[in-house]
Amino acid sequence: MSKRSSVCQTLLPVGLATALMGVFLLALLTLPVQAQAIPPLSPPYWDADELAELQGEFGPATPRWELLRPAVITYTVQPGDNDWAIARRFGLDVDTLRFSNEWMRRNPDLIHPGQQVIILPVKGAYYTVKAGDTLAEIARRYGVPAADIAEFPLNNVGPAGQLRVGQKLIIPNGRLDYAERIPAPGPARGYPLAWPLRGVVTQGYHSRHRALDIASVYGARVYASHSGRVAYARFSPDGWLGFRVVIVHDNGLTTAYSHLSGIFVVEGQTVARGQAIGQVGSTGNSTGPHVHFEVYDDGARVNPLGYLPPSASE
Ligand SMILES: [Zn+2]
Repeated sequence: MSKRSSVCQTLLPVGLATALMGVFLLALLTLPVQAQAIPPLSPPYWDADELAELQGEFGPATPRWELLRPAVITYTVQPGDNDWAIARRFGLDVDTLRFSNEWMRRNPDLIHPGQQVIILPVKGAYYTVKAGDTLAEIARRYGVPAADIAEFPLNNVGPAGQLRVGQKLIIPNGRLDYAERIPAPGPARGYPLAWPLRGVVTQGYHSRHRALDIASVYGARVYASHSGRVAYARFSPDGWLGFRVVIVHDNGLTTAYSHLSGIFVVEGQTVARGQAIGQVGSTGNSTGPHVHFEVYDDGARVNPLGYLPPSASE
């Protein structure tokens, strides 16, 4: 199937540079903006010259973002697609896909043919304005200057930064740090081990799964269950467990944390109980963002629930 048939324009119709800038200037004078006043072009509607021109029109004198397309488009997932392939096809990164498609953030592995993926014109994030939001607060949350959101023409932000509930904002270079919003598990005083993260146990310990699966948000921090020495911190060679950290503790226990998206420690390093060692991911054979958490007692795999407090918040 051709790229042309799988890409369709949606959400933010866009015109030629001149028409767009004209409407944008008009928008500054007559809010609220009528988005449909911008005539849509039929795809494929961007070439290198046009994009270069638009980049100049879109951005400040020193561009702080690279314009890849003049519009938000949707892409229909094709057989064999995955998030990396889709991101690469459109010049984006996987984070941009996750920050503009809520369902991908929750479970990036459930991509299947026919699903609609929002494709932003720049790397960044896509945000729907909620009651009480301010431009400054949104900018702070995504770690970008408020001007970058206000000045992005497709956003139609009012001259004094006015937003409308339900308005979609493109946030160039915007990134959310989920770790900031997810509290660490409690220290579990009096227990041999602390929970490695707050999450939902989606699979318990049994004869064919001698571990706990603890699901959380992609990118959430994972913490050492107890102090010890990092014995292993790399991509598991069998490919099954993905990025994996193993910590040998001084109390005779060993803990292992698998399917991570990122690792913050190196082999040989000592870690404190509760120290961040990596991030929740879905690497290896995994069906969604979670940690496959194993506990070894004197070398034998045991049920982690026997060593942890009853709740991840303790
Ligand atoms: Zn598992």
